[in-house]
Amino acid sequence: MFENANKLNPLSQLGEFGLIGELEKAFPTTQSGIVMGIGDDAAVFEKDTENYWLLSTDMLVEGIHFDLIYTPLKHLGYKAIASNVSDIAAMNGIPKAVTVSLALSSKYTIEATEALYEGIQLACQKYGLDLVGGDTSSSKHGMMLSVTVVGEVAKNDIVYRNKAALSDLVVLTGDLGGAYVGLQILEREKSVFMANSGIQPDLEGYDYILERQLKPEARTDIKKLLVQLGVKPTAMIDVSDGLSSELHHLAKRSGVGFTIYEEKLPIDQLTYDTARMLNLDPTICALHGGEDYELLFTIPVTDFEKVKGNPSMSVIGYCSEAVSGINLITRGETAVVPIVAQGWNTFNNPQ
Ligand code: ADP
Ligand code: MG
Repeated sequence: MFENANKLNPLSQLGEFGLIGELEKAFPTTQSGIVMGIGDDAAVFEKDTENYWLLSTDMLVEGIHFDLIYTPLKHLGYKAIASNVSDIAAMNGIPKAVTVSLALSSKYTIEATEALYEGIQLACQKYGLDLVGGDTSSSKHGMMLSVTVVGEVAKNDIVYRNKAALSDLVVLTGDLGGAYVGLQILEREKSVFMANSGIQPDLEGYDYILERQLKPEARTDIKKLLVQLGVKPTAMIDVSDGLSSELHHLAKRSGVGFTIYEEKLPIDQLTYDTARMLNLDPTICALHGGEDYELLFTIPVTDFEKVKGNPSMSVIGYCSEAVSGINLITRGETAVVPIVAQGWNTFNNPQ
């Protein structure tokens, strides 16, 4: 099915981007009523004359996406739902229902499972969702959690990844890098704990970034805000795998390049200070750290006044010619450096 499939090659050679690209080629949609198959934040189906259904799925694997040493199960349940809802928000849609499939090893207790579902329930209440099904299995090692979310969007409101146009502005909600820096603090405290289990973790003062990592929210509020501002994005994606990766997705789908200003990247003060304390470059954390679940979108330059100064969003750059690629103008406009996608790549993970 894939090119070179007669040779035995490691999956890392293809990478996640490559695999999805091959799947998209191999599985074009054939059924009536399917408006969008593989390739956006959610698949899109005809619902009625005015509306589409949206469908998106994501999987969380213990040891890869979460570490139970520092992830409370209630938070994990919440995050599993919020991260899926984020993909519906990225289509400018409204989430309606979820299914949750679960594989659990024998180490899990009734109480642990209850805690997980408490988080799932809390997220369902928060985002106005019904849990309508799932599947349950045993697992030899650890937990796997797969969530599928169904949403709805008016045909007039839907935003894909593919309509960013030359000179459009690039806008980002919220701030970046917090979830990644929060994860570094949790990892640091895990190392201390592993070396000496008598030492209590020192998490004092890191609330915001720990919450960004452990209990993120989907930006379902942005749909309403955009209506209030009278702005309809030309393209949109959620930032789950890091800004650099998401810019590459938008660029590929829309056939444009991007010019991003380092000094415009929204970074929270605690994220900035903690990154520096850990000897990390805050810009690198903002560009490549994942799991912030903010929305990245493009708008016509004529809409600049409508978003200018809005506390929920930052204009970080503009769409340029595809041939010029995706570049960062460094602070003080001193240099132009290519932004390479370094977000999450499933098959490069050492485990
Ligand atoms: P997101 O980060 O928004 O969840 P992904 O990068 O995971 O999106 O996926 C991009 C697109 O590829 C989506 O349309 C998704 O449904 C599709 N996709 C990802 N993995 C697979 C797979 N194993 N089989 C078919 N489609 C896939
Ligand atoms: Mg997405």
